[in-house]
Amino acid sequence: MLIDIDRLPKEGLRLSRDFEFASLDLVDENAVVLEPVHAEVFIRLVGEEIFVDGQVSVRLSFVCARCLTPFEFPVASRFDLVYLPEELDPLSDSLSDEEIDKMYYSGRQLDLRAVVLEQLNLTLPGKPLCANDCEGICTVCGELVRTGKCSCLVKEPDPRWSKLKFTVRDKR
Ligand SMILES: [Zn+2]
Ligand SMILES: [Zn+2]
Repeated sequence: MLIDIDRLPKEGLRLSRDFEFASLDLVDENAVVLEPVHAEVFIRLVGEEIFVDGQVSVRLSFVCARCLTPFEFPVASRFDLVYLPEELDPLSDSLSDEEIDKMYYSGRQLDLRAVVLEQLNLTLPGKPLCANDCEGICTVCGELVRTGKCSCLVKEPDPRWSKLKFTVRDKR
């Protein structure tokens, strides 16, 4: 969905839209998009800068990084962005470090779909977990630990203990 910058009303444009995305659009290849992504945005032009703020929300399904079980994950992310016209060369020496992070639009248009997708991807967890304390899969028998089917006595050593051992040894 392209927003024509020169047609933006002076008071700004408020939009409420649903965007269809496929799992391929997401940075996490195991994530599944369960419904259209809902976006509420307010777009306004100030000078040559486009201010876009709003929020995206959607339900996604991830595969837990520890136990490999799919689980539902609601995303609701607020954002507040500024786009500069691309005609301002981002590599020009006159820009400070702060300005290099800024985003650009070109051809007097802003691709709202791309904006929404980028914001969605930014909120995805790098290592999705079905629960913070998910015990995952037993490395010995391959069963899910929480189902109780695993009765192995050999457990992975607690990483906190191995660290402690190191500390003790170092002091000797
Ligand atoms: Zn899990
Ligand atoms: Zn086991």
